[in-house]
Amino acid sequence: MNTGPKSTIAASYVIVGAGQAGRRAAETIKELKPDVDVLLIGDEEHLPYDRPPLSKQVLLNEEHEEGAFIRKREFYETSGIRLLLGRSVQSIDRDAHRIYLTDGGHVIFGKLLLATGSRSRRLTCNVGEASKVHYLRSLSDARLLRKEMIDGRRIAILGGGFIGLEVGAAARALGCDVTIVEPQERLLKRSLPAILASSVQKLHEAMGVRFLIGRTPVSVERNGDNQEVVDLDVGVVTADVVIAGIGSQPNTELAETAGLEVENGIVVDTRCRTCDPDIYAAGDVTAHFSSLLGRRVRIEAWQVAEYQSVVAAKNMLGDDQEYEELPWLWSDQYQWNIQALGSFDLPGEIYVRGDSASSCFSVWNVGPEGQVYAVAAVNNGRDISVARRLLKGGARLIPSKLQQPALSLRECCSGHTRMASTP
Ligand code: ADP
Repeated sequence: MNTGPKSTIAASYVIVGAGQAGRRAAETIKELKPDVDVLLIGDEEHLPYDRPPLSKQVLLNEEHEEGAFIRKREFYETSGIRLLLGRSVQSIDRDAHRIYLTDGGHVIFGKLLLATGSRSRRLTCNVGEASKVHYLRSLSDARLLRKEMIDGRRIAILGGGFIGLEVGAAARALGCDVTIVEPQERLLKRSLPAILASSVQKLHEAMGVRFLIGRTPVSVERNGDNQEVVDLDVGVVTADVVIAGIGSQPNTELAETAGLEVENGIVVDTRCRTCDPDIYAAGDVTAHFSSLLGRRVRIEAWQVAEYQSVVAAKNMLGDDQEYEELPWLWSDQYQWNIQALGSFDLPGEIYVRGDSASSCFSVWNVGPEGQVYAVAAVNNGRDISVARRLLKGGARLIPSKLQQPALSLRECCSGHTRMASTP
């Protein structure tokens, strides 16, 4: 295949974005129809890789990079998925079914999948020219950061969300001195309930992390001693390395300039279709309907990349599948596995099952009629999987029973409710 600049390539199925969602979609198309033409285009030079390990094991040790790749180069060769890596798409001409690459080449598509993902939000405060603020999104970012996280170094982390906390845990494991700055009044405000965030904070403090909560960085400057100085509204943090994990924004520019509907993500229906019948989208970049919340959501999670892409691929081949997964988040920090299923945005009552001072408990968001809105659990995957069945089956919980861990979750349900039989 001629893949040089200025070349013209054609494929029946073209996927823009060679991350986890792009890879899964390409694999699915090839599994179902081995004879069709699939082209996967990505602007990074690396083979497709999954991002969750980047803020965890990959920071600890280079050897863990291999696990992030999932598939080796031979897989793409033998399955016939054509890769166009290190190439970036500039625009889409929907009428001509053409995409233009920044290097002058173009690609003609039959059906197109946009799996362009998201990028790190950048600090908006004043960052001095000599300062090097790290962000963590790509494998290259993780490699740079790994080199900096050396025993004894002082690391300032801006943002007490999942990325900030996971990087903090990795930095402590490597012997760094860690300070986490969070402007909100507590950690993990976007996704987890206060009681769980407080347990997570205590865990980190026990591991030696220092928190500055309710403090906003107003500037980052490198001083004459080669130290980074983060000026907060009150006080300063001096560090060797500064990392910002302050959220992300979807890569929607291509879709937007092509005239597709965009609203905090590329708008898709439950079948992953955009408003153009030949263009689909999947993964972090989509704003898709959640029947649990009754509105569109954009969720950055392994699960969306993994499953929405499969639905998109099947529908591109003419099937009629719907993406209906419940929101599900996953984080590993020290010895804690934290998972959350459903939504804590729904206005319910919060109940704790087990001891929130221990390392195994769950926190439930329960609606006025006992509906399960969400559960978050520490080292308790079992409660998550039962909750999934309760949620899907529309079960009703009795809160007073829920707070008695000696009772099984089934015993905590009111008599007339049922559990979905499959997880
Ligand atoms: P991520 O996936 O990057 O961790 P989250 O939304 O889970 O994203 O967490 C981002 C955290 O960063 C939030 O707790 C948010 O309050 C915090 N934050 C946002 N802006 C700033 C900022 N300028 N400095 C420090 N923290 C910030």
